[in-house]
Amino acid sequence: MRNPPMLVVAVGLAVLGAALPTARAARNVILMVSDGQGYNHVAAARLYSGTTPVYETFPTRLAVATFPLNFSSAPTGGHVQVGGYDPAAYWADFNYPKANYTDSAAAATALSTGVKTYNSSINYDNDPAATGTPLKSIFEIARDNGKATGSISTVQWSHATPAAFGAHNINRGNYAALATEMLNSGKLDVILGAGNPDYNNDGVLVATPQNAQYVGGAAAWAALKAGTTPFHLVQEKADFERLAAGDLGFLTKGKVCGTVQAYETLQQRRGAGDPQGVHPETFLANVPTPAVLARAGLNVLNANPNGFFVMMEAGGAVDWAAHAAQKGRVIEEQTAFNDAVSAVVEWVTANSSWEETLLIVTADHETGHLWGASGAYTELTGAGAEVLGSMVFNSGSHTNALVPLYAIGAGAELFSQYVIGTDLRRGSYIDNTAVFRVMAAASEIPEPATAALLATASLLALRRRLSPRT
Ligand SMILES: [Zn+2]
Repeated sequence: MRNPPMLVVAVGLAVLGAALPTARAARNVILMVSDGQGYNHVAAARLYSGTTPVYETFPTRLAVATFPLNFSSAPTGGHVQVGGYDPAAYWADFNYPKANYTDSAAAATALSTGVKTYNSSINYDNDPAATGTPLKSIFEIARDNGKATGSISTVQWSHATPAAFGAHNINRGNYAALATEMLNSGKLDVILGAGNPDYNNDGVLVATPQNAQYVGGAAAWAALKAGTTPFHLVQEKADFERLAAGDLGFLTKGKVCGTVQAYETLQQRRGAGDPQGVHPETFLANVPTPAVLARAGLNVLNANPNGFFVMMEAGGAVDWAAHAAQKGRVIEEQTAFNDAVSAVVEWVTANSSWEETLLIVTADHETGHLWGASGAYTELTGAGAEVLGSMVFNSGSHTNALVPLYAIGAGAELFSQYVIGTDLRRGSYIDNTAVFRVMAAASEIPEPATAALLATASLLALRRRLSPRT
C-alpha cells in the first residue's frame, strides 16, 4: 500500500506570498549533509567511538522522508507524485525500502529548491517532458539577498550533492558543465572538495592528468591554476589549514576554489588500510580533514557583512562506503563527518551565535539498508570494534528509509511546523522539501516567485505558509 504524504500542488509560489517574519532571522545558514547516512550509520560511529555526536544533543531532532517525485532518470513532464513513504509498510516488510528510493541528485534538489523531481536532476523540474525546467535554489536566493555562498564536499566538488548547491543540469552526470557553472555563474564564493585531476585516489601526483571533468575540464583547470578566474585556487593541505585558522591574508582573490590533492575522495577511495576495519593511520597525509574544510569555508564566507549560506557535504563518501559494504570506511567517514559538525559548532560559538546562525545536520538518503542482522530490523550492538561484527548491509544501493535531521539555532524551531506524519520507531517526520522552506523562512528571505518554479508542497507546509507564524 502506497501512502504518499505529499499532495500535488502545482501552483506558482508567487500566490503564496513572501515568507512571513520569524522571531529571529538567521544571518547565517549552515546545512551539513552526510550522504547515505541513516540512523544506523550514526549508531555505528557512536558505538565504535563510544562518543555521542554533538548533533544528537541538538534541540530539534526529526526524521525526514527522502522519496523523489518519480524514478525516471530524465524529465517525464507534469508533477504527479509517484514516490512515497508508508511507515506501516516499512516496518512490516524488510524489503519495502529496497525499492523506490531517491538518488542524491533528486534528494539534494529537494533540499536546495523545495521541489521534488526525477532522479538524476540537478535543480531541474520534471516538467516539461524531455527538457525539464531549471529551478531557483537556495544558494541563488541567498546570493540575491546579499549573502556569501559556499558549497563544500568531501568528494568531487561537482558531484551531485555539492552541484545542487551551485549549478543546474538536466543530468547529474554532466560534471564538466556543472563544474563550469559553479565556477562561472558568479553565484558561489567558496567551492571546496576533491576532483583534482593531477592526483590519484592515493593522493599521489600522476604523470598524466586524469579526466578533468570534475573541475570543469582541462581548460578550466588550467585557468584556475593560472589565476585567471575569480577564484583563488587552494590545493595544499597547509593552505587549507591556514584558512581554517583564520589566516586569509595570502588570498589574492575574494573567492576560493579549494581542490584537495586527491581525485575522488578525501580518504574513502585510498588503497591503504583494510576497508572492513578503521585505519586512520593510513589516511592520505597531504589531504585536509573535513573539519578543516568546514572551518576554512566558514572563515572565508564570514567576511561578508550580510552573512552567508553554505552547504557542507562533510560526509560525502559515507554513501560510497555503504554501497561497497565497507564497514570500516563507513565508520571512518561518519566519524570524520561528526568531527566536522563539532568543528562547526565550536566555530559558531566562537565567531557567531545560535541567535543568528542556523545549523542543520541531515542526509540525502540512507545507503546499504544497514542493520544489526541479515533480513531483520535488529539494532546494532557492541562497544568499540565489536560493532563491526554487528553491521550487516542488506542492500548494495540506496533505500527509502527515513533519515535523521538535527537542527540548532535561529529558526530551528520552525521544523516542527512541517511534520507530516509519525513513524513507528522514528517518531515525527517531515518531508525533505521542508528543509528548503525552513532555510528560506529562518533567514527571512523570500522564496522565488518565478513562473518556472512549481512546488509540490505538503498540505501542512502549505497551510503553514498561508497562516501567520507564532
Ligand atoms: Zn549512492
